[in-house]
Amino acid sequence: MAAPEESVVHGSKARPQDLPSVDKLLRLPALQDLLGTQGHTFVAREARALLDELRQLAVAGALDREQLLAPTLGAALAARVRQRLAPRLQRVLNLTGTVIHTNLGRAVLPPAALAHVARMMEGPVNLEYDLASGDRGERDTIVEELLCEITGAEAATVVNNNAAAVLLTLAALAGGREAIVSRGELVEIGGAFRMPDVMASAGARMVEVGTTNRTHLADYARAINAHTGLLLKVHTSNYAVQGFTSSVAEAQLAQLAQEHELPLVTDLGSGSLVDMSLWGLPKEPTAQEMLAAGCGVVTFSGDKLLGGPQAGLIVGRRDLVARIRSFPMKRALRLSKLPLAALEATLMLYRQPELLARELPTLRWLARPQAEVEAVARVLLKPLQASVAPRYGVRLAAMQSQIGSGSLPVERLPSAGLAIAPALDGKRGTGTALEALAEALRALPLPVIGRITGDELLLDCRCVDEPAELLAQLRMLKESLA
Ligand SMILES: *Cc1c(COP(=O)(O)O)cnc(C)c1O
Repeated sequence: MAAPEESVVHGSKARPQDLPSVDKLLRLPALQDLLGTQGHTFVAREARALLDELRQLAVAGALDREQLLAPTLGAALAARVRQRLAPRLQRVLNLTGTVIHTNLGRAVLPPAALAHVARMMEGPVNLEYDLASGDRGERDTIVEELLCEITGAEAATVVNNNAAAVLLTLAALAGGREAIVSRGELVEIGGAFRMPDVMASAGARMVEVGTTNRTHLADYARAINAHTGLLLKVHTSNYAVQGFTSSVAEAQLAQLAQEHELPLVTDLGSGSLVDMSLWGLPKEPTAQEMLAAGCGVVTFSGDKLLGGPQAGLIVGRRDLVARIRSFPMKRALRLSKLPLAALEATLMLYRQPELLARELPTLRWLARPQAEVEAVARVLLKPLQASVAPRYGVRLAAMQSQIGSGSLPVERLPSAGLAIAPALDGKRGTGTALEALAEALRALPLPVIGRITGDELLLDCRCVDEPAELLAQLRMLKESLA
């Protein structure tokens, strides 16, 4: 390692034997603070890794001697340690225009849930302990009463997510038997969740009835036989069949199911617990409506429209929920205390519906008036323009937000934001320039995620509460684009 005062000919290459030993590197005075705060073990491991990388460069004749100057090496090691200690899971700013974005973690928890989670995780809790009797308790009781109160169900149980809820329900109620479902409802939610595959995993034999666009009550009736385990309705949440279509409403199907003493199970998907039209949003069927229509079991997600943590909620008839709860697979799919605490606090808010739009971030963003979104975009316009000029131009633009996570796929929410386009002569290079900008935004300490459509990068401001977090990073954006 060359001492700082040693002169190094600019551009001359280092040989492998010019590299210092790990011990020598760690004795640098500039690294003593780092060793004190982060500990010898971790810093030494990173020092070894750094020197290994530099040795490979030196062997290839691609290492400048300047890179081996003591201050340069010390700074490189400190930066490496800092970077390796940064968590992989990071907060980001969602300017995609999709409010419930699966890749960005779906619903954002309400403050009450954050507080409850933090308090409950600090020490032991009565997760499966009945404080009245001192006996073993059942973790479902933490939220069962609340879920019954809100939905009107007789009983409720919760699991890891809605995919697990569907799997468990089918396995418990239709394992080894037939489950009748409309061909128009054999959805793929994304990833590996395809209804036919879930049925197979649950050990249920799928019996498809009707056609892609039209299924009638008689189709279900004809398929019922001695081997039938249940009738299944799937809320086609992420697509819409339009035109010459027909499906059987839950109330009608419930009657048929009852005549044959079969359970009707509904996978509601996004699982709204309130009438979204109260906030000017498109109407989604609620769990309580499905139960009132006669569904025996309704399953839905905790982190879509409900606005809570990832969870699968199962509500319905006491006898059916009891079979589901006691099915052995439940143990493998159960909800841990961490999301359970978040779910309890989130569900509590539903007792006071007037407070929901204020307290649930997801609902607040969905219900946000276009004028309010536009006001945020206006605050950002000039500072953003200044930081991306002269390579890009920024304009205020009306946009269309999506609800996301497969909820209400064809509905759009009038929104506003900033549209950024490269300042180029003609269209050549537009794609590359937009990708470069999107990358620079993603590389910020608090990454900003937008979307590229056509010749522009769009930053939809619907989910930006406070422009300050974005404004604070604009100097860094300008530097990275320079
Ligand atoms: C989202 C969805 C699922 C899967 O729910 P997760 O909570 O993501 O597991 C299943 N069915 C429908 C209809 C859905 O919309």
